[in-house]
Amino acid sequence: MTKKDKNTKNIIELVEVYLSLGTNVGDRLDNLRQAVSLISEFESCEIIKVSGVYETKPWGYTEQDDFYNLCICMQTELPPYELLNKCQQVEKELDRKRDFKWGPRTMDVDILLYGDLTNEDETLTIPHKHMHERAFVLYPLMDIDKDLIVKDKTIEEWCELLDDEEKESITLFSEKLNA
Ligand code: AMP
Repeated sequence: MTKKDKNTKNIIELVEVYLSLGTNVGDRLDNLRQAVSLISEFESCEIIKVSGVYETKPWGYTEQDDFYNLCICMQTELPPYELLNKCQQVEKELDRKRDFKWGPRTMDVDILLYGDLTNEDETLTIPHKHMHERAFVLYPLMDIDKDLIVKDKTIEEWCELLDDEEKESITLFSEKLNA
């Protein structure tokens, strides 16, 4: 995707990016609203679509409150590590507290996909490692684009492959974040 810069008339490459947001501490809906609002203010980014809000059972460490999750599709000019940095700033701004891996958190922002990029190092793994196995990622993505291809299958196909426990771990809370 490309657009013309208003001032220089140079062609700018826009990349389609998908983010996953999750929260299970405090006012979960308000946390999501605040995070989406902060993301909408990222420079050189435009939010194209926000999924519905889903309530999901915690994954990994299960002795904690249920999460609210959603996904965002946006177009960006930001390089991937800069985008990651900005996502981590959103987590910080929402006063994220997390004592251990998979534990409760005010806000978790993950980059699921960054165009066609595949990347794997200690800082950034894209596509996000387990995105094709998690209902809390796949169901919101179904709202945005069920035909989106990840690791050679569509989101819809990955959804069909989820086991019953994973499918039962999620319910739609609201079709719209600001309903
Ligand atoms: P978590 O908060 O559990 O999602 O993990 C945060 C850590 O994951 C950070 O150190 C990130 O550098 C790393 N990370 C690797 N890949 C990604 C990604 N695609 N999106 C967000 N964080 C990532």
